Amino acid sequence: MSASTTSSIPSTQYGFLYEKSKGLNLKTDLPVKKPKTGELLLKIDSVGLCHSDLHVIYEGLDCGDNYVMGHEIAGTICELGPGDNSSGFKIGDRVAAVGPNGCGSCKFCRDSMDNVCKKAFGDWYGLGNDGGYQEYLLINKPRNLIKIPNGVNSNLAAASTDAILTPYHAIKMANIKPTSKILIIGAGGLGGNAIQIAKIFGANITVIEKKQKAREEAKRYGANEIYETLPSTIPPGSFESCFDFVSIQETFDICQKYVEPKGKIIPVGLGTKEIKFNLADLDLREIQILGSFWGTSTDLEEVLELVDSKAIIPKVQVAKLKELPDYFEKLRNNQYEGRIVFNP
Ligand code: NAD
Ligand code: ZN
Ligand code: ZN
Repeated sequence: MSASTTSSIPSTQYGFLYEKSKGLNLKTDLPVKKPKTGELLLKIDSVGLCHSDLHVIYEGLDCGDNYVMGHEIAGTICELGPGDNSSGFKIGDRVAAVGPNGCGSCKFCRDSMDNVCKKAFGDWYGLGNDGGYQEYLLINKPRNLIKIPNGVNSNLAAASTDAILTPYHAIKMANIKPTSKILIIGAGGLGGNAIQIAKIFGANITVIEKKQKAREEAKRYGANEIYETLPSTIPPGSFESCFDFVSIQETFDICQKYVEPKGKIIPVGLGTKEIKFNLADLDLREIQILGSFWGTSTDLEEVLELVDSKAIIPKVQVAKLKELPDYFEKLRNNQYEGRIVFNP
C-alpha cells in the first residue's frame, strides 16, 4: 500500500450507466478512473434512490447523457491524486458528496449559494456527471465533500445528501418560524423528513398524503394534522407556506388555493414539466412562488449535525446495489416508505 492509495483498487467495476437512447443499464466493465492532481477517488459505501431518477429515465428530465446515475452519495476516500495533499482529506476519511458540485469560485459559490453555481450544470453527481451507482467515483472537486460525523453511519449520510438536504434547504428558504402554519404535500422520501425538519423550526404542520402507510409515518414524525384530501373545515388561505413534494398541476392548485396572502408556495417536486398558476390571484394576494434546488454545502454540514444529534431520524432501508432495478419498479409503484439506499 502506498501513501496515496489503499490496496487493490481494480481497473474496472460494475455500475448502472444511463444513456438517453437506452435508459439505465448494468455494466460490468466501467472504468475506475485515476485521480489527477487535485482529485480524489471515493469508494462508494452507500447511495440512495431518489424519485428524480424516475423523472430522468421515464419522463425526460434532462441533466445530460451517458453517465452513471445515483446522486445521494456517501463513501470512503481510497486514493489521492499524485503529489496532492491540498484538499485536507486523507485516505480512510468517510465523506458525503454535495451533489450540485459547485465550482467554488463564482459569486454564487462564494456567497454560500453553491447549489445554484452556474458553472456546475452537467457536473452534478449522478445527474449529468457520474454518480454513486457504481463501486468507485472520481471526485473532481474535493471541496464538495463533507466529512461524515462519527455518529452518522454511511447509509444515513447518503440519505442526508438529498432526502434531508433538499427539504432542509427549502424550509430554511421559506423562513419558517414557531408561529408558522405550513402545508406539506407528499410525505415520501423528502416529505417525511420535511415534517421532522419543520418540527425543529417549531411550525404547525398539516400534511396531505395519498398513501395510508405514509400517512401513518407522518403521524409518527409529529405532523399536527394529516389528510388524504383537505376537509372543508379548513378554509382557503390557511397556510403561510405550502411545500409541494409532488408538484403536478393538481397539487400546485391546492397550494395556490390554500396559501395565505403574502404566503409562499415552494414546488420542490419535479412531477411535471410545466405548471400554470392563476396570475390575478397571485398578484392580488402577493403570493410568492419559490424555486428550491437541492441544498448548499453549508446546508449539508448542518444536516449532518442534525442527524448526528438525532434531531432528525430518517427512515432508511438498505439493499444491495445490484437490486437497484427491483427498487426502481417498487418506487414507480409507490411500494415502500422513506428512503432506500444501496451498498455496492
Ligand atoms: P417519493 O416517491 O419518495 O415520495 C412522494 C410521495 O408523494 C409518496 O409518499 C406519494 O404517496 C406522495 N404523493 C404522490 N402523489 C400525491 C398526491 N397527488 N397527493 C398527495 N401525495 C402524493 O419521492 P421523493 O424522492 O420524496 O421526491 C419527491 C419529489 O421531489 C420528486 O418529484 C423529486 O423529483 C423531487 N425532488 C426535487 C429536488 C429539488 O431539488 N427540487 C430534489 C430531490 C427530489
Ligand atoms: Zn434527488
Ligand atoms: Zn460556482
